[in-house]
Amino acid sequence: MQIRQSSIRGDRPECPVDPSHRVHVHATYRRYKKADGSDKETVSRWLCTAGCGTISVLQDARLPYRLIGVDLLEEWLDAVFIEGRAPPKATENEKGCLERAVARFLQRIPSLTEVLGQMINAVSPTATQLWVQLRKLGKLRKILRFLAEEFKTSLLGNYRCLRPRRVSG
Ligand SMILES: [Zn+2]
Repeated sequence: MQIRQSSIRGDRPECPVDPSHRVHVHATYRRYKKADGSDKETVSRWLCTAGCGTISVLQDARLPYRLIGVDLLEEWLDAVFIEGRAPPKATENEKGCLERAVARFLQRIPSLTEVLGQMINAVSPTATQLWVQLRKLGKLRKILRFLAEEFKTSLLGNYRCLRPRRVSG
């Protein structure tokens, strides 16, 4: 599964299935950092020795499966849904990614509303209402950690990698 860097309390992640399991460093792999593929960063992967599978650690500045940075997306969503101003400067590649991210966020409104329950005041919130409520939690980095830790989901997708794998047998 995948967890966010800031969810790690000590020097290594806990096994999501059982914190008493031992976790060892397994491998590291390279991941593109920027939408234009110009930059790569190292991601560490851990393994639960009790057989619960691997745990990848995603930097807080990164989104699962998407190449746009968390801070740029936050700025973009603030501009579009809160401030009603022109979105921040971005490269053509980033712009494409950001527009797809916004489209995905709009699709995600019903499921995020359901997951967040009482936290959202409206029954069918607009994108602005939902984004304003989420931003009350803090920066997007914090929102992503909150969604992953509390609800095993993310802003732009309900990815399987965010849920722990059950131990068979
Ligand atoms: Zn385990």
